[in-house]
Amino acid sequence: LENDIFVSDSIFKIWRNAGVYKTSSDKNKKKFFVIFAYPGPSGFIHVGTLRSYTYPDVIAKFKRMTGHNVYFPAGIHASGLPAVQFSEKVRSGKYEDYLKDNNCTPDIIKMFQTPEGVVEFFTKNYAEIWKKMGFFINEETGIPTTIDPGYKKFIQWQFRNLKKNKFLVQKEYISSYCPKDGPVAIDTAETDLSSGGKAIISEYTVIKFPIADINTFKGNYPNISVIVATTRPETIFGVTNIWLALNYIYVVIRIDDEYYIIAQDSLPNLVDPELIESFEASSLEKIFCINPVTNDKIPLIQHKFVKPFFGTGLVMSVPAHSPADFIAYNESIKEGYDIKTPPIVVKSSIIGIPAETSINKFPVRKISNVKNLENATNYINSTEDSEGIIINSLECYNNKPVPIVRKTINKDLIYQNIAFSQPFFSDLVICRCGNRVQLKHIPDQWFIKYSDIEITEKTKDYVKNKLKIYPATLQNQMPDILDWFEDRPCVRTGNWLGTIFSEYKGAQKQKELIIEPIADSTIYPAYYIISKYLQNGLISIESLNDQFFDYVFLGKGNFSRFKDNVDEIRKDFENWYPVDCNFGGKEHNTVHFPVFLKMHTMIFPEKFWPKNIFVNWWVMQNVQENKKIGKSKGGAGSITQILEKYSADILRLYYCHAASPDVDMEWSERKIIQYQSDIEKIKQIIYLIKVKSNANNQNSMVQENDIIEWLRFKMNESFLIMYLNLENYEIRKMAQECYYTIPKIIWRFKHRDGTITSEIINLIYEWIKYLSLITPFLAEELNKEIGFEKSIFSEAIEIQKPNHQIIPSIVEEEEFIDEFVSDLMKLKKAVKKVEIRKIHVFTSNELNFRSKKSEEDLLFSAISYIVMKTGIQPIINPKGINMIKNKININKKPIIQLI
Ligand SMILES: [Zn+2]
Repeated sequence: LENDIFVSDSIFKIWRNAGVYKTSSDKNKKKFFVIFAYPGPSGFIHVGTLRSYTYPDVIAKFKRMTGHNVYFPAGIHASGLPAVQFSEKVRSGKYEDYLKDNNCTPDIIKMFQTPEGVVEFFTKNYAEIWKKMGFFINEETGIPTTIDPGYKKFIQWQFRNLKKNKFLVQKEYISSYCPKDGPVAIDTAETDLSSGGKAIISEYTVIKFPIADINTFKGNYPNISVIVATTRPETIFGVTNIWLALNYIYVVIRIDDEYYIIAQDSLPNLVDPELIESFEASSLEKIFCINPVTNDKIPLIQHKFVKPFFGTGLVMSVPAHSPADFIAYNESIKEGYDIKTPPIVVKSSIIGIPAETSINKFPVRKISNVKNLENATNYINSTEDSEGIIINSLECYNNKPVPIVRKTINKDLIYQNIAFSQPFFSDLVICRCGNRVQLKHIPDQWFIKYSDIEITEKTKDYVKNKLKIYPATLQNQMPDILDWFEDRPCVRTGNWLGTIFSEYKGAQKQKELIIEPIADSTIYPAYYIISKYLQNGLISIESLNDQFFDYVFLGKGNFSRFKDNVDEIRKDFENWYPVDCNFGGKEHNTVHFPVFLKMHTMIFPEKFWPKNIFVNWWVMQNVQENKKIGKSKGGAGSITQILEKYSADILRLYYCHAASPDVDMEWSERKIIQYQSDIEKIKQIIYLIKVKSNANNQNSMVQENDIIEWLRFKMNESFLIMYLNLENYEIRKMAQECYYTIPKIIWRFKHRDGTITSEIINLIYEWIKYLSLITPFLAEELNKEIGFEKSIFSEAIEIQKPNHQIIPSIVEEEEFIDEFVSDLMKLKKAVKKVEIRKIHVFTSNELNFRSKKSEEDLLFSAISYIVMKTGIQPIINPKGINMIKNKININKKPIIQLI
């Protein structure tokens, strides 16, 4: 086969002429509006993200071929940090290798000097790759970005609308921010982060343990304490010592005229610390501090289990109630440290010393056994929280439940200036720029009120009764996610791209607030419709104001008298909305999809709420090690290289067939090569059919045989399976049928001496339509090969839903032959020491088929096929069953018999 239609970009011209990049003008067609979660411009597209775009394209093509008017626009989610950080990394030289790997010219690198340049470059670059992948993304819409002036007006309208309806609220907030980039989002999608997306923020009590008088260390400072962060301040009565990280650097800091000692690595955890001096942990070794509640003098001791970056990098040791402390305590005692016996300060159903009992229970033999240690710790904490009573403390606390004492003691300590309260991360969080993410208190943060009960209930009802989510497991989880999804901060200051929160300038101390990227990407499909009209010049940016959006999206006001065709735009919006399917990766399950749903409930009437959501899992570098492929996180090659090496078709088939959408797949070039050869086989089949068909055309004497009826049935059966699977978004099952079952059917037909007639060419043509959904380039090539002039994607070419068929008798007859072949193969295997060339077959004399054919006749008609498949020549003895009965006694030799 010649790849002549690929030598230039003419295939894209053919497709454009066929109308694939625009919507149909036929108003009688049913509409289908499909989108994928638009990507952020954080780097070159990689093999992972392409999986998420391939599924919607297959469905869009299927809908288009089944008589739908399909709208499949795409955009770029440019807001937030990705472009800012990309540009920064280019400017600082950190991306030199990455840019080289992606063949960036000096002109491109020049564009990357500004975040806007990054957005501009990647908008074109992604659109180009989408086209090369054979995606039919709508050209009338352009590729709008979230930093376009029109989009910003749209978002400001959305926020004024939210404010008006009381879905914006102000309250206290602890913000996570990067010292360089400003606020960053902590979520599992890790858009802003290089690690730590799973970290949670909780409030800790930070207790001051003053350095004891006898220490010379104190001499330099009027007051100085070591500070420890704890979530269990009530255990302060059980403290035996303070732990320091082993061989680590500690520092003295000043906050509000008080001096504290903390680990150097914990500096980012504290609010505005002033650094005074630093020193080795060992210089703290012989120092004592004072338990501020019991006045006990307790030592500072180094131990390797202390994480210097967590909390303050110091830990108060409560050996009786903390498994880690218990193990470290015993190790230190063995090393000769003089530490007091650990007091038990909580009484519960755990017998003995609680820490000792629980490390025996789980068991924890070493402090490095993190998992068991965590289980043992959780066991004590949850038991003591639910049933523990405080003992051996002060009269005012004794015999009271743990949670109550915790609350009171926290208040008392803060009141006496012995402690303060502060949030900490549960884990190390690193920004994409490499800096540690820190916490900051904001008294008047703006939130979107996603917790609104009415909105949550309405959305849950809708999800349960009307929305369809693929896969079904997520359908069941989504109501819980909607319940769990809290108010979310929606504006922030910092070095961001996005829409200015202009209405409320000055309401907060910060100068300029920018709407954060999860908040500005909730109802964007509505903007695609506006973008179409901006593209073709039928409206101007200036005319986009609140009245315009109110009218177009909500039908409020009367705008027919205006010169811009606002009525037409309203009708167009009503025609396309709601979104029929939103496709996205699993990282959106708890981030994008819940806000996408809730925001539609907040802004639009129910008739405009989305119909379907389709979620796909990831392409991983290594599934077992949970190693991701990331645009900027490395892994796999550049997509341009991969496309040149293999082709879009093979990549598309790989995504559709190598795994179900709801499992992570591993990037494997070995698998890709397998698909390459599978596609070659399909080309060969069609080539053979074409040769045979030409030969038959010249020879009118060729007889048509019954086997064509078999082929017709089997092909139609496959078409129906594919059609039904596509209707249910079961793309992998469809691919299995299309690329593996049908070729087998055709090969069998050919070997059963099927005659190639024009009907068969039409069946092949029908198959090519299905092939075009996943492998459009191949389909176009094959379509031409079998003699069709028009593009397979011409608007008139449709897939009809196949009817259920009555099974013709030829199908059971051919099954009989196949069973016979498979029996012979089994036999061959069973006696593999002897080479079987011929066998006697004794057929029954009954007519077992609907067609009234005998086994004898059937086997006779298939002899050449049987020989071809098995290498065995069957000698058929008609009506042989009676003969066997007689012969067994005569021959005295075993007879190979098949009945
Ligand atoms: Zn940063």
